[in-house]
Amino acid sequence: MNCTICPRHCLIPVGKSGYCGVRRNWYQDSSSNTTNENNFKNDLRNGIFSITYGKNTGLVVDPVEKKPLYHFYPGSKTLSLGSIGCNLDCKFCQNSSISRSVDDSVLVKYSPLEVVAAAQLNGCRSIAFTYNEPIIGLEYVIDIAKEAHQAGLQTIAVTNGYIAQEWLDKFFENIDAANVDLKSFSDDFYREYCSASIEPVKETLCYLAKKNKNSTKNNCNDNSKRGIWFEVTTLLIPELNDSEREIAELSDWFFSELGAEIPLHFSAFRPADRLRSIPPTPAKTLFRSRNIATATGLKYVYTGNIDDTAGQATYCPQCKQSIISRNRFNVTEYLVDEDQCCRYCGQTIAGEFESDL
Ligand code: SF4
Repeated sequence: MNCTICPRHCLIPVGKSGYCGVRRNWYQDSSSNTTNENNFKNDLRNGIFSITYGKNTGLVVDPVEKKPLYHFYPGSKTLSLGSIGCNLDCKFCQNSSISRSVDDSVLVKYSPLEVVAAAQLNGCRSIAFTYNEPIIGLEYVIDIAKEAHQAGLQTIAVTNGYIAQEWLDKFFENIDAANVDLKSFSDDFYREYCSASIEPVKETLCYLAKKNKNSTKNNCNDNSKRGIWFEVTTLLIPELNDSEREIAELSDWFFSELGAEIPLHFSAFRPADRLRSIPPTPAKTLFRSRNIATATGLKYVYTGNIDDTAGQATYCPQCKQSIISRNRFNVTEYLVDEDQCCRYCGQTIAGEFESDL
């Protein structure tokens, strides 16, 4: 059977899994004593679904800034969960012990209702699907997200954006905010270091720009009632994707296709996985990249994975005052009012905010 969830479109023999390791062709697999723990309609899985349904690596309470999301209820707590497997194969993966694992015996079972209850018990405003790629566990994400909304919680997807276009609506239907990795602005990089291609990721970003109610790009009538907030993260790896030229090209495209209001996070690489011989990203590379993107016209550009309070503060694009200060993942100053405006000059700040922390 053909899995259509992501652009790989794996052709999966009966009883086997696709490239991500967790979406299995379950068709006529009943003789193998496996138990179908799913409760989904056939039209969703079409005989192929995730072996990790109802199982994750554990529940962790995080500040929402850790996703990173800087314009989505700053200072709030989110319940993070992930599982095993991935549809990319990044040579610099920071979570390779889970992303390349296919051993679901190490996972802990939580029903969607148990996940929601844990979020409520821990005072979380949202539930975040993170650590590994959530699209490959689509059914579990959808069930938890629906229960979360029933309980008045919000939902976050931290994704590589490598999703088939025909599944974008289904995946994001119950998602309130996303952080999407744009791993480079080069298709060659995607092919050599991620075993993927850039075009589907750009399509996902453009889709979100249309769905985002804050964006001037929003021309999607059917979603006028509800928007999806999103931010973008690019991990800068020395010599591989951090040239001034590439950052300038990325920034130009970002400005014209996603809009100036969408936050962009430049994050520092630390040696990991198969790129352990590459040194960490120097701070000056992050500063330079932030300057390039800001000069292009992007209003909210941040640095990450380094100590840089100036690069992690939110500045009002109108009066240029610092209105949200952060010390690593803690919000230390908050000057956004109840109308989502700068308390100094009244300029609207893109995103979703409370009047207080
Ligand atoms: S989600 Fe997994 S099985 Fe489906 S196409 Fe992508 S890599 Fe293949």
